[in-house]
Amino acid sequence: MLKQELDITVNKCTAEQCKPKPDEEHLGFGQYFTDHMFTMRWNKDKGWHSARIEPYGPFTLTPATLVFHYGQAIFEGMKAYRGADDRIYLYRPLDNFERMNRSASRICMPPFPKESVVNALKSLVYLDRDWVPRSAGATLYIRPVMIAVEPNVGLRAALDYLFFIITCPVGAYYPEGFKPTKIYVEDKYVRAVPGGVGEAKTAANYAASVLAQKEAKDKGFSEVLWLDGVERRFVEEVGTSNIFFVIDNELITPPLQGSILPGITRDSVLQLAKSWGGKVSERSVSIEEVMAAAESGRLQESFGTGTAAVISPIGELTYQDHTVQINHGEAGPMAQRLYDELQAIQFGRQDDPFGWRVPIA
Ligand SMILES: *Cc1c(COP(=O)(O)O)cnc(C)c1O
Repeated sequence: MLKQELDITVNKCTAEQCKPKPDEEHLGFGQYFTDHMFTMRWNKDKGWHSARIEPYGPFTLTPATLVFHYGQAIFEGMKAYRGADDRIYLYRPLDNFERMNRSASRICMPPFPKESVVNALKSLVYLDRDWVPRSAGATLYIRPVMIAVEPNVGLRAALDYLFFIITCPVGAYYPEGFKPTKIYVEDKYVRAVPGGVGEAKTAANYAASVLAQKEAKDKGFSEVLWLDGVERRFVEEVGTSNIFFVIDNELITPPLQGSILPGITRDSVLQLAKSWGGKVSERSVSIEEVMAAAESGRLQESFGTGTAAVISPIGELTYQDHTVQINHGEAGPMAQRLYDELQAIQFGRQDDPFGWRVPIA
């Protein structure tokens, strides 16, 4: 069943329905959507069915639709890259859909056939290939989503689901080079707790994090650094990215123990850094250890990792009215090397020894 090939109907835009392409110099992030989207539906009798590539457009849902009430919703974030050879590449797409199936199972949604959905995604991106940007560093962002669409206001797992993928051209994250961030170490709100949904990419996590992010922004910070939900002591993530430190030449990231999102960029950084040699650790790291290392000059670097920015260097950390600078507020050599190598693999500028790149045609 789960290996099934989806029977996909393709309904292309008419010439009049096709939209003008935005100016590649002013793409921003997530404002423009391409001409087509992929949709499919699930119910108990038919399983996944009605798979379609169709013109991008609105859905009609009744006010009783379950997702509006109890937030049964999950998503993914990935990108397509146009290489110098003009080929278009996806990056570890099967890993994203495997993670999405794990998110689905955590909130009682049905699993989908991930290989078939990768094929559907390739068809979608190929159809909209002229939307994959050509300007340096710009990409096509891909947003797969699954929501509960049964009309019912009783709380339980829904009996009907809608899965869709939309795509949007996005600008280079660092058009003028790295801009290290100022981070507020959050000790009032928490993002996730053991036994909760922190390791699933479920919409609820983001709704719960917006207030802390807004308060930090109002105080002049770019993002919050999340501490563990029990002791508010161990570092977990930074904003919607995984976090890394370099202390005494050891590259450190917190271990995946249920409350941290298992980032694909995080995994790529771990594999890449291990292949270079040197000490790489997945271990718990307390905020006291980080602040003490910063004060004694042993904290060499820190950065966030995620699909959107790839690597996001941290220039400053503020914890309980105490601020430390990292590497004089500049991006460090480890962040720079990881960024350069990952981008070179993603854009097809260098060999791909790990087999991460997937050409779409
Ligand atoms: C998506 C996400 C990440 C990064 O995952 P990638 O697969 O690297 O994009 C990290 N933390 C959170 C909370 C996320 O939602």
